[in-house]
Amino acid sequence: MAASRVCGAGQRLLAVKRTCRPPVRCLNLHEYNSKRLMEEHGICVQRFDVAESPSQAKDAARKLKADMLVLKAQILAGGRGKGTFSSGLQGGVHLTKDVQVIEEVTKKMIGYNLVTKQTPKEGVKVKKVMVAEALDIARETYIALLMDRAFHGPVLVGSPQGGVDIETVAASNPHLIYKQPIDIFEGMTEEQALKMAQNLGFSGGVEQKAAKQIQLLYSLFLSVDATQVEVNPFGETSNGEVVCFDAKISFDDNAAFRQRAIFDLAAESEESDPVEAKAAQHDLKYIGMDGDIACFVNGAGLAMATCDIIQLHGGKPANFLDLGGGVQEGQVYQAFKLITGLAQVRAILVNIFGGIVNCAIVANGITKACRELDLHIPLVVRLEGTNVEEARKILDESGLPILTAWNLDDAARKAVDSVSK
Ligand code: GDP
Ligand code: MN
Repeated sequence: MAASRVCGAGQRLLAVKRTCRPPVRCLNLHEYNSKRLMEEHGICVQRFDVAESPSQAKDAARKLKADMLVLKAQILAGGRGKGTFSSGLQGGVHLTKDVQVIEEVTKKMIGYNLVTKQTPKEGVKVKKVMVAEALDIARETYIALLMDRAFHGPVLVGSPQGGVDIETVAASNPHLIYKQPIDIFEGMTEEQALKMAQNLGFSGGVEQKAAKQIQLLYSLFLSVDATQVEVNPFGETSNGEVVCFDAKISFDDNAAFRQRAIFDLAAESEESDPVEAKAAQHDLKYIGMDGDIACFVNGAGLAMATCDIIQLHGGKPANFLDLGGGVQEGQVYQAFKLITGLAQVRAILVNIFGGIVNCAIVANGITKACRELDLHIPLVVRLEGTNVEEARKILDESGLPILTAWNLDDAARKAVDSVSK
C-alpha cells in the first residue's frame, strides 16, 4: 500500500458528518516538488531552490539575490514552523538576510530529526532544505481543494485566518471556515472563486488576484489528479500580491498510470508518509486517520468494520491497520510500537479473528510489546478463532491491565468508554 493518509489540515477542517472509511489512498510530495508543479501551472510562489548540504544552501541563497531569505526544512509533515530538531534547533522555518546564517542553520537541520505535531514522536530525518526569497506577509489566509466523499466531489475550503494556528481556528471559530462544493462537470466558476476570495478578506482589487490564483489552483487540482491541494498560508504581501507560501499536494494512487512523471518523482526522492513507510517496511497495511483509538486488526474487511463500529459508538479511529493472514510475533510487536508512538493515540483496540492467524502468536506479540514498550494507555482485546483458548490464557496470566472483550460491539464500546472518561 503506497503512501496515503488524511493529509494536512484540510480534511480536519471539514467538520461534516462522515463515515470513517479510510480516505482515498494517495501520494504526497514535498513542498519543493509541489511548488515546482505550481510554478508550471502559473501559480504564484516565491523564487526558491533546494539544497542537500549547508554549502549548497549558502550558494542557493547567494544566487537568489534577495533582501530577505527564508530557509525551510523539507519533510512530508506540516507544522514545521513550530517544530524542534534533534540538534536542539527550534523551528523548521527561519527568516534571515544573511547567507552565512542560512549555512549555519542548515547545519543544524540536515541529518537531524524534526519533530512536529504531525510527525511520529522521534520525528523525521531532514535530508533537504528549501531556500526561498522571503516576502513581507501582510495577511495569512488558508485555502484548500479536497476531493470529499461527503460532498461527492471537490470542495473548496478557505479561512481568512490562515497560518500556523488554522486548526485552532477550526475548533474555536468554525464560522470562519468557508466551504464551497464545486460541480465537477461545470468546474469552478469565476463567481465562486471571487466569492471565496472575498470570504478570505481580500479587497481593494486584490480579491481579483486571489480569485485568479484560486482558479489556477483548481485547474492544477484537476490536471494532476490531486485528492488535495492545500495552501497555508495563502498570503497577501504588503504590496498587494497574492502568494502561495506553503503547499501540500496529495495525489490519488488510482491515477498513477496517467501521472507517471509525478509518481516517478516521488519514488526517486523517497517521498512517503513516514509512519506509513515504516509500516510498509514490516509488511503491515496501514493508513493513518485523525482519531484517538488505535485499531489493530487482521483482514481489511474486519479492519474497516472495526473503524466503523468505533464511530458508531461515538469514538474516532486513529488508523486503519490490517496485519494480514500470515502475521508473525515480530510484526505484532512492530505494529504495536508504531501505533503507540503516535501522540494522538489514547487507547488501543485489538480485534483479531484467527482463521489463518494463530491467536496465541498474536497474544504473545501483544504481551511482549506491552512489557517492552511500557504501555500506559487502555488496551482492549477481542480475540476469536484458531487457538483462542491458549491466547486467552496467555493474556490472563500476563498480569497486564488488559480489558478483554467478547465480541466486536463489546470491544468498541469498551474502547470508546476508556477514552471518554
Ligand atoms: P509549516 O509550519 O510547516 O506549515 O510551514 P510554512 O511554510 O507554512 O511556514 C510557517 C510560517 O512561517 C508561515 O505561516 C509564515 O508565517 C512564516 N513564513 C513562511 N515563509 C515566509 C516568508 O516568505 N515571509 C514571512 N514573513 N514569513 C514566512
Ligand atoms: Mn504551512
